[in-house]
Amino acid sequence: MKLRNFTIGLGLLAAFYSADKGKNLIDGIKQSNFYSAPFSPLSFPYKKETVVLPIPEVMSLYTSCDQKTYNGKAFVPAKSTDEILNGVKRRRALENIWRMHFNEKAAKLNLESYTDITTSWTSPVNVSWVTNNYNGLRARARGRVELHRATDIFTKTGSKIYAPVNGVIVASSGNWTGSWTRRKGLHDVSGGLGAITGNGAILFGINNTIYFLMAHLKDVYVRAGDVVLKGDVIGTVGKTGNAMSPRVPGHLHLAYKKPGTECGIEGVLVSENPYPKLKETIASQLAQKN
Ligand SMILES: [Zn+2]
Repeated sequence: MKLRNFTIGLGLLAAFYSADKGKNLIDGIKQSNFYSAPFSPLSFPYKKETVVLPIPEVMSLYTSCDQKTYNGKAFVPAKSTDEILNGVKRRRALENIWRMHFNEKAAKLNLESYTDITTSWTSPVNVSWVTNNYNGLRARARGRVELHRATDIFTKTGSKIYAPVNGVIVASSGNWTGSWTRRKGLHDVSGGLGAITGNGAILFGINNTIYFLMAHLKDVYVRAGDVVLKGDVIGTVGKTGNAMSPRVPGHLHLAYKKPGTECGIEGVLVSENPYPKLKETIASQLAQKN
């Protein structure tokens, strides 16, 4: 179904969406001029810049307090205490803006599912099982070893990735390039959300202040500032970033963070293992199907 005009298409979109929940809301919206003027001053009381930040800024707000990040050449040192404190303040202010932005679009779309305030998830990938590899050891460049702060969902490259919760996309990139050779490993990287992350998206879940980072994507269908509903297609499973190695099968790297206390600072984003909730979600979706 093609929706040429966003305004006229709303009724159709509502019918379309409720009729086929797994389908992509974004696809429908893309047909219109939604992207060319998503932050029209007539419809929103704030400017695009207040909703959509440069990727490095979002990535910096998203990183845990003691986390060094690899920029393709070297590890960038973890943040100072002042940077962390300011980051928490800044992130909380942004969360208010992202919520307003979500509600504004939600009211316009007038879809019942926008008012879903449950904390349940939709499985981000159609799989019947998932293994727990959170906190596994990962070798990084220059002999560094890191804990794997995510659950990997192994599935075919090109499989659709769905938004697990209602929220706002706060960072996204689909322009990652890089090479991998046996001798040099990952090299000549650029673009994406980061050298190791590759293509991906960060979703801010408005109902319970949670963040999902989805990494190694092939295609990315969402842009920062997009409002997504549970079940919207946001991209496809790929092998970008350090998943490019031929030894690594295609998978979705699903990282999950919540505000907590780390480094003695309250309010920083702390990694959580998405596995228990993911397992429960997949089981309940399978039960509903049968
Ligand atoms: Zn991973």
